[in-house]
Amino acid sequence: MGRILVILFTTGQCNLRCSYCGGSFPREVVPWGIGYGLDELEKFLGRLGEYDIAFYGGEPLLNPGFIRAVMDRFGEARFVIQTNGTLIHMLEPDYWRRFTTVLLSIDGREEVTDYYRGRGVYRLVARAARRLREYGFQGDLVARMAVSSRSDIYLDVTHLLELGLFDHVHWQLDAVWSDWKNSFWRWAEEVYMPGISRLVDYWIDAMRRGRVLGIAPFLGVLRVDLLGEPNYAPPCGAGVNSVAVSTDGRVLLCPIAVREGWAYMGDLREPDLRLPGRPLIADPCTGCRYFRYCGGRCLYAYLERYWGEDGFKMLCRVTAHLVEEVRRALPEARRLLESGTVDPSVFDYPPFNNTVEIIP
Ligand code: SF4
Ligand code: SF4
Repeated sequence: MGRILVILFTTGQCNLRCSYCGGSFPREVVPWGIGYGLDELEKFLGRLGEYDIAFYGGEPLLNPGFIRAVMDRFGEARFVIQTNGTLIHMLEPDYWRRFTTVLLSIDGREEVTDYYRGRGVYRLVARAARRLREYGFQGDLVARMAVSSRSDIYLDVTHLLELGLFDHVHWQLDAVWSDWKNSFWRWAEEVYMPGISRLVDYWIDAMRRGRVLGIAPFLGVLRVDLLGEPNYAPPCGAGVNSVAVSTDGRVLLCPIAVREGWAYMGDLREPDLRLPGRPLIADPCTGCRYFRYCGGRCLYAYLERYWGEDGFKMLCRVTAHLVEEVRRALPEARRLLESGTVDPSVFDYPPFNNTVEIIP
C-alpha cells in the first residue's frame, strides 16, 4: 500500500470566513470537537502501516490540545499542517519545530488576500511566516493560495516568492465549487493562461541564473519528465495514498467531500473498513495525453462535475496549457542537472504527499 497520508480534522470550526469557503462546517457535518479516542486512532493507524499526518480543519489550531496529543503519541510520522496562519501562537515553538511542512493560506498580494480572506489577514500571515522561522521551524514553508477572478497568477506568485519567506508557493484554482463558470473561461484565456506563460518565462530566467524557484505546480509537472514517473491519479492521492479522518471518526477519500457518499470509506473504529489504494480516475483521463502529469486533476471535481462536461473540459484546457508551458523549462532544467549546478532533489517536489495537490 505504500506510505499513507492521513489528513486529520482537528475541528470543523474556523475563525475566518473566506469568500470561497464560507468558514466553519456545520457542527452536524463536521463536529467541532473530536469524537473518538487516541487508542481508536492508534488501531486505525496501525492498519495503515507507514503513514504521515496532516492537521486540517476548519482551522486546525482551534484545537491545539489534540495536535499536541497526536504529535506526542505518533512521533514516528512526518507532520504537516494547513493553517490560515492567524493562530500560530496556539502551539509552542517546540511543536512547530517538529513539523516537516507548514502550509499557510495566503493568496498573493495584500489586496487580493484581504479581499478574499478578510481585512488584515495578509499581515497576520506574513507575520506568522516570520515567527515560525524565529521559533526555529526549519521545514518546508509553503504559501498555499486560492486563485480566483481577482488574482493575477504572475503578480501574486512572484510577490510571494519575492517576500523571501516561503520555500514553495502552491495554488488551487477556485473553480468548480464557486459560481463563476460563465466568466471563468474569459478570465482563464485573458488573464490566467497568459499569466502562467509569463510565470514560466520568469521561472526559466531564474534557472538561467542557477536558481530553481519553488513554484510547486511547475516542479510537480516537470518532475514527471525529469524522473520518468507519472504523478498519482489523482495527484493529491485521494483514495490512492491519502485518506481524511473527520472529527467524528468517519474515514473519507477526500477532506472536501464531507457530505458525499462516494467518499465514505467507513468509520475508523470498524475493523473491516475500506483502505486506500484503489484508483478511481478512469475515462476520459486514462486515455488523455496529459494523464501522466494531470492524473485526472481533482477526484472530487472528476466525480461531481458541478460545472458540467463543458466546465470539465475548460479545466482540461487550462491544465493542458500549464503542462505545455512548464515543459518549455525542460532543456534549462536538464542543463542545470547535467552541470551539477543544482541537486536533483530540488526537482523532486513534493518529496512526499504533503497535501500539495500539484495540479491547480
Ligand atoms: S487534462 Fe482533463 S482529461 Fe486529461 S487527465 Fe486531466 S482532467 Fe483528465
Ligand atoms: S484535489 Fe480534489 S480530490 Fe484531492 S483532496 Fe482536493 S478536493 Fe479532494
